[in-house]
Amino acid sequence: MSYQKQSQLFRRGVAKLFTPPPDLTVAEWSSEYRYLSNESSALAGRYDLSRTPHCELPMTLLSPKNPCKRVLLPWSSQIAKTTVAENFIGYIMHQDPAPVLVVQPNVEPMGKAFSTDRLAPMIRDTPALTDLVKDSDKRNSGNTIGRKTFPGGFIAIAGANSPAGLASRPIRYLVCDELNRWESTKEGNSLLLARKRLARFPNSKELTVSSRTYDGIGIDAEVFGAIDDDGERGDGADQIYYWSLACLKCGEYQYPEFKHLKFTDRDVETITYECESCGNLHGLDQEDEIKRTGKYILKHDEGVEIVALFANTLGTLICEWRESVQAFLSAQGDPDKLQVVVNTDFNETWKDLEGDGIQGNELYEKRETYAQDVPEGAQVLTFGADIQADRIECEVVGWSEDEESWSIDYQIFDGDTSSTKNHVWDDFKEYLTTEFKGKDRNYTLSAGVIDAGYLPSVVHSFVKSLNRRYVWAGIGRAGKRPIVESKELRQLRLRKSRSKKKKSEIIGTDEAKTVLYSRLKLKQNESGITPGYCHFPIDPKYDPEHFEQLTAERVVRKLIQGQTTLKWVLNHAGQRNEPLDCRVYSHAALRLMSPKWGRLSGAVKQTPEAPIAKTITRRGSPLRKKRPSGFVNSW
Ligand SMILES: [Zn+2]
Repeated sequence: MSYQKQSQLFRRGVAKLFTPPPDLTVAEWSSEYRYLSNESSALAGRYDLSRTPHCELPMTLLSPKNPCKRVLLPWSSQIAKTTVAENFIGYIMHQDPAPVLVVQPNVEPMGKAFSTDRLAPMIRDTPALTDLVKDSDKRNSGNTIGRKTFPGGFIAIAGANSPAGLASRPIRYLVCDELNRWESTKEGNSLLLARKRLARFPNSKELTVSSRTYDGIGIDAEVFGAIDDDGERGDGADQIYYWSLACLKCGEYQYPEFKHLKFTDRDVETITYECESCGNLHGLDQEDEIKRTGKYILKHDEGVEIVALFANTLGTLICEWRESVQAFLSAQGDPDKLQVVVNTDFNETWKDLEGDGIQGNELYEKRETYAQDVPEGAQVLTFGADIQADRIECEVVGWSEDEESWSIDYQIFDGDTSSTKNHVWDDFKEYLTTEFKGKDRNYTLSAGVIDAGYLPSVVHSFVKSLNRRYVWAGIGRAGKRPIVESKELRQLRLRKSRSKKKKSEIIGTDEAKTVLYSRLKLKQNESGITPGYCHFPIDPKYDPEHFEQLTAERVVRKLIQGQTTLKWVLNHAGQRNEPLDCRVYSHAALRLMSPKWGRLSGAVKQTPEAPIAKTITRRGSPLRKKRPSGFVNSW
């Protein structure tokens, strides 16, 4: 900033910039003034730093007198990272008032939840803060769920998914929560947009916290540098610390990782923690003692402005090894759940994404003979349909409660799809009433998703003509988003939408493919029940070409708008991948329907909203034919 500009700012009365910063650190303030609330903490009452000593250094770095500008906390869930953010905000309100921007993954429900479940109780229960914020119930108080004002500053709460909320007045303090859950937006990199607002304050600070997901993504890119298309890394943090424990025998400090925990026969009472240096085993009776040795070990030191600190449940006093191992054991066989444990408990990145994907021929070899159309174990049938100009492709999949799946049937209906009057839609409609033979009863299709990305109005009118509660038009969207929206988000979107026109369901295709591909790698348990396992029948429709197309894609890292982004791409340009799309929509249908499994497994095995089925038998003959070559893979 030029001298002239600086003096201009000064004359405008931005005197706050130049008042000396308080001596008190955020850590000291928290011990002195902060009270934790019942609704957000198991440790309600006066804040006690001795229970969470791993929070002290980050809070010292966040203090105005510390030269650090950006604190990055890639932390497990449940180890008080939100408390650190709250303490930082409380400190600003009380000691160093200035404008604060808090960015949550979305305004609703997460921004709202942060405001009402965390911020409001902190202000209510921390006497030093209570009087600073006028009663938010009163009109004209300047306080809403998205904004709290206090003398000398305000807290604005924005959603990373609506960049409009990120680009307005300058702020001095930025708090970014759950960075790895920020969804991609068309408008640009939300983190960079938010950071731009700090530029006017030379004494600005940023706190970014998140659980980890994949190497090079989100908070990992901030700590270790973003990865570009050639695999090269950009700049990361200046300093990197690890919350480490000292071996009670040899005294060596190490960052605790899941590999250090040993146990036998799935018995959590046998857990020991092994020192990687001398091999000493620490039993559960020594857990508290070894955790009390915890301290930050500096592993990378190139400056002081951007500081990252790692900590996880395995090294913190407020968590138990038993719980972490239990979570790991319960997630066995389900890559979906296991990833959550690895990311949010152990604070490690999920490696399963690496490699060349899956070989179609291996899946072909794994095909099985089904005793009947619908094997035992499958309780609900869903379908997923992909619409092309000259045909409809559809797969029927059977599911168990833990999402073990059985491919049941794959059909291709030829014909011009551009109008519902065309015969191809009649053929498809008739097919959707097929009964499939099970061991004790026949099954009809319970739910389905039809791709509406290519011919939205045709698909919507077809779906309407079916008049079935559990059949949806779906639009696949890439980027960071769940397979289907949460109930809350879905209702919110529908409420907000003014148009009476029926909306398509948004299907998170990247997430669905990630889940599917990790499940395709599973090996079947000896017990015969393998959550998530995908079964395929020995059936001419499931030919080598089917599996070639099912495994047609892989994940690559791409640098987009300065952010490393995971992107699904075709292995070979122009390759067909309809079986993959059908499979994704079939899975989305199951998630959207969210069956009441308890009822299904009871004596009355009724499929909800089953249409009156015409008794037609399943088509036996393979309809797959050779694909037109050179067909542009554009939808
Ligand atoms: Zn040792």
